[in-house]
Amino acid sequence: MPRPITSPLTDPVHTRAPYWKDVPDEQWMDWRWQMAHRLNSVEELGRIINLTESERRALTAKGLFRVDITPYFASLIDPDDPHCPVRKQVIPTDREMVPFESMMEDSLAEDKHSPVPGLVHRYPDRVLMLVTTQCASYCRYCTRSRIVGDPTQTFSRAEFDAQIDYIERTPQIRDVLLSGGDPMVLAPKLLDMILGRLRAIPHVEIIRIGSRVPVFLPMRITPEFCDMVDKYHPLWLNIHVNHPKEITPELAAATDRLSRAGVPLGNQSVLLAGINDSVAIQRKLVHDLVKIRVRPYYLYQCDLVEGAGHLRTTVSKGIEIIEGLRGHTSGYAVPTYVVDAPGGGGKIPVMPNYVISQAPGKVVLRNFEGFITTYSEPLDYDPYEIKAQEALIPARPEPGQEGVLALLEGERMSIEPSGFSETHARGGAEHRLRSGDIAQKWQPLGVGSIEVHKPRERLNTGKGNGHEEHGSEE
Ligand SMILES: *Cc1c(COP(=O)(O)O)cnc(C)c1O
Ligand code: SF4
Repeated sequence: MPRPITSPLTDPVHTRAPYWKDVPDEQWMDWRWQMAHRLNSVEELGRIINLTESERRALTAKGLFRVDITPYFASLIDPDDPHCPVRKQVIPTDREMVPFESMMEDSLAEDKHSPVPGLVHRYPDRVLMLVTTQCASYCRYCTRSRIVGDPTQTFSRAEFDAQIDYIERTPQIRDVLLSGGDPMVLAPKLLDMILGRLRAIPHVEIIRIGSRVPVFLPMRITPEFCDMVDKYHPLWLNIHVNHPKEITPELAAATDRLSRAGVPLGNQSVLLAGINDSVAIQRKLVHDLVKIRVRPYYLYQCDLVEGAGHLRTTVSKGIEIIEGLRGHTSGYAVPTYVVDAPGGGGKIPVMPNYVISQAPGKVVLRNFEGFITTYSEPLDYDPYEIKAQEALIPARPEPGQEGVLALLEGERMSIEPSGFSETHARGGAEHRLRSGDIAQKWQPLGVGSIEVHKPRERLNTGKGNGHEEHGSEE
């Protein structure tokens, strides 16, 4: 029997603090009403939550990151428990005012990797497009608190145009990720327009939205919204749930509507001290997510952002959580744990070590239970057999980010820190053992060839030794 289609307006309303008991259901389930009635002051929050002294001090301090909480999300807070995991995500305490050594304004160096304002082109084939600085509610650990929440930092029409123009003239971009702030608080017509313009660019294969609106404001996922996104497939959406308490019947109904509109759903969580830094809590979280057809995608290490020092964990806690998930539960429920590299290195996956040892022909591996086994490798495996087929796939258009793969593929022999050669010249003059003509003696046979796919073939057939054609490429 097919499951009934849920509707935001006819379903019973589950999540509502007693303070709002007299608000008519149509208003409560109207996202514009929720946005207009957000809480941000000591007075407003004090009406529904027993605020601690520390929270009161923070809420009245100047210069703290913006506070705004939808009545729906505020209803998930335990009014009497200062340790409530929902509360700690959105209500500041005076610990936010404590600086820490490594904190930075833009810890991911996003603005440095930004060819036009609000567009971050960090990876070879995809861009992050910041379309607004506004959110439905504000998370205390927000990575982009340098711009988010600040109405004066929002993007102009001219900046949107510049972002879209950059994507249009950069053919290697096949994936555009809309973020912010929260793209889903944009005026519906504006979001529709941006999606339409992106979809009209032939090389943009997929569009993604990163949004916490389904969590803060599930009533925003109206049938009209679903009809709108349905026009722009393939469109993917990542939501942001950190704790099982956030998975309510309202969120379940919203993700159900999105799934039925053909939107594949993922979840990004941030690992937060005192909120979800527990194997048991993470296991419940990922189980509850897959039940509402949301696939855990990333678990982020908390960034080195001002105000979030007290919410950070060690990296070892993240490794422990993955140790407690992988193998112990469905593979579908296991996110990739990543550290977003300070300074702009991008996301770096971190996980427990499963390879215990290696020798030619043997790999020794361990599983989640501590069972240790041996995989015997073929000794006659030919990694070059596939090369002719591989050559049929067009090469990646933009050079320069091949990284460690280039070492494995024989395109380069080493990757040096900048200034490496100069340092090791030790100020000495060009002398007879390191002069220009014989510099090729550091060029390995078969590395750095132009036909990168066939170095071994050429060697095997004995046609040249690579030196004459490719030896002095550097
Ligand atoms: C996270 C991120 C992306 C997307 O990364 P995926 O690993 O593909 O999800 C793209 N650009 C920037 C700047 C990002 O931070
Ligand atoms: S919803 Fe995202 S962008 Fe907005 S405050 Fe939270 S983490 Fe920051």
